[in-house]
Amino acid sequence: MHIRDRYAPSPTGLQHIGGARTALFNYLFAHSKEARGSDGSEKSAFILRLEDTDRARSDSSFVQNLYDTFAWLGIRWDEGPDVGGMYAPYIQSERFELYKRYALELIAADKAYYCFCPLERLEKIRREREEAHSGETGYDRHCRSIPKGEAAKRAADGEPFVIRLKIPLDATTVFHDRLLGPIEWKNVDVNPDPVLLKSDGFPTYHLANVTDDHLMGITHVLRAQEWLPSTPIHAILYDSFGWTPPEFCHLPMVMGQDGKKLSKRHGATSIDEFRRQGYLSEALVNYVALLGASYEEGTDIYTLEELAGHFSLDKLNKAPAVFDYKKLAWYNASYIRVKTNGELAERALPFAVEAGVFGESGTEPDTEQKRVFVEAMSLVKERVNFLSEIPAKTAYLFSEPAPPPASEFFPKKADIRQTIALLTLGKGLVAPMAAMSDTDAEAFVKAEAEKAGVKLGDMLMPLRVAITGARVSPPLFGSLRLLGAETSMLRVEKALARLQICGS
Ligand code: GLU
Ligand code: ZN
Repeated sequence: MHIRDRYAPSPTGLQHIGGARTALFNYLFAHSKEARGSDGSEKSAFILRLEDTDRARSDSSFVQNLYDTFAWLGIRWDEGPDVGGMYAPYIQSERFELYKRYALELIAADKAYYCFCPLERLEKIRREREEAHSGETGYDRHCRSIPKGEAAKRAADGEPFVIRLKIPLDATTVFHDRLLGPIEWKNVDVNPDPVLLKSDGFPTYHLANVTDDHLMGITHVLRAQEWLPSTPIHAILYDSFGWTPPEFCHLPMVMGQDGKKLSKRHGATSIDEFRRQGYLSEALVNYVALLGASYEEGTDIYTLEELAGHFSLDKLNKAPAVFDYKKLAWYNASYIRVKTNGELAERALPFAVEAGVFGESGTEPDTEQKRVFVEAMSLVKERVNFLSEIPAKTAYLFSEPAPPPASEFFPKKADIRQTIALLTLGKGLVAPMAAMSDTDAEAFVKAEAEKAGVKLGDMLMPLRVAITGARVSPPLFGSLRLLGAETSMLRVEKALARLQICGS
């Protein structure tokens, strides 16, 4: 089947999980098995369209954020404002003339009408109904009965107007949702005669969205469930134009674990924030793709391509998806573990540069520091869940850690004199260890501890603190190798000198 679907955000805010989920599902669907021709070719397309009809709330910084976000996530569209395409322009504010033409076409076909009601009148009926507790809402269809000729003349004479959709009364609108099944709305329950074209000539969401989906050949509308109440209006609009509607699929809501709509209270929601907190884009994409969808049992880690291969609208769940930050952190950690040192270093480097690991904040590493940083990834890979944890875990390899208080050096039950003795013993092992593999170093220190009649852990504790600045640290042997014998010795000597002053 030939699929054309789209992500149609309004650039009125930062891109968040909900938007990323909608975009990702559209991307996956357009790259799914269903989207391939019988010859295996991909004729389908995923489209980006900017719905910036709300001029006051739209902002170019949000458009930039959108581009940055999806570049980072690795989600690309086949047609869009930045890449062009057969149906350009893909920005609604560049298509305003067109919407007006279509609105007038509906008037000509008697499917829409001019409304001249001033705002004060609309305000007044709203207030009156409220006071009367009538339960009625929306427009009272006041201008629907103005004779067509008269209305056309008033509009031509320059009287301000909006254009409203003439919702057929006494009818029922039925549309099929791929996930939710058939949905029926009595037309009297649909918002009475929504505005299509505003008094300033700008289209509303309904008109621009339906017109563009039709003109751009959109076959499937996958969007968040919050748009479901708009769909009867859209179905009536398609019908009024005599157009075949696309297939609709409203995606389940994304909730926090308390069952409320996902929001700031639950944690990060903007994609920028996840990025700054040290998430890998692959982990986020993988996790979000599984939100509200069930794939093969037992497998969790998928690339974008694999996800597309598995994706099917039939695998979507109707129930709301629960966003689980712990699960996402697990994905992130899993992705970190399987990266090569080079890959991981590349992702972690901006965090280290900003944290000032190589000098002042913002200082890039020199060639040698870069080499060490790459190697250091094997020391931290198993110990972090987020890229943002890597600077603090590697800083000791690039600058001397702040001297810890003497007591930090003490192995359990040891006093300062014993600690000094143990560290002196350790000092003698530093140079050979720095030249050994992990396995050799381990065998070597075990034998030395035995020879000296001390516990291995006791011998290594003060050494570890002297080298890394902390009792809990990345592996000691690897640290010694990366720091080299000379730097390591200096650190041990300094620590010994300090301990001796404390102990005397
Ligand atoms: N502009 C709408 C939004 O901000 C588009 C909804 C739809 O996909 O129809 O999400
Ligand atoms: Zn009116």
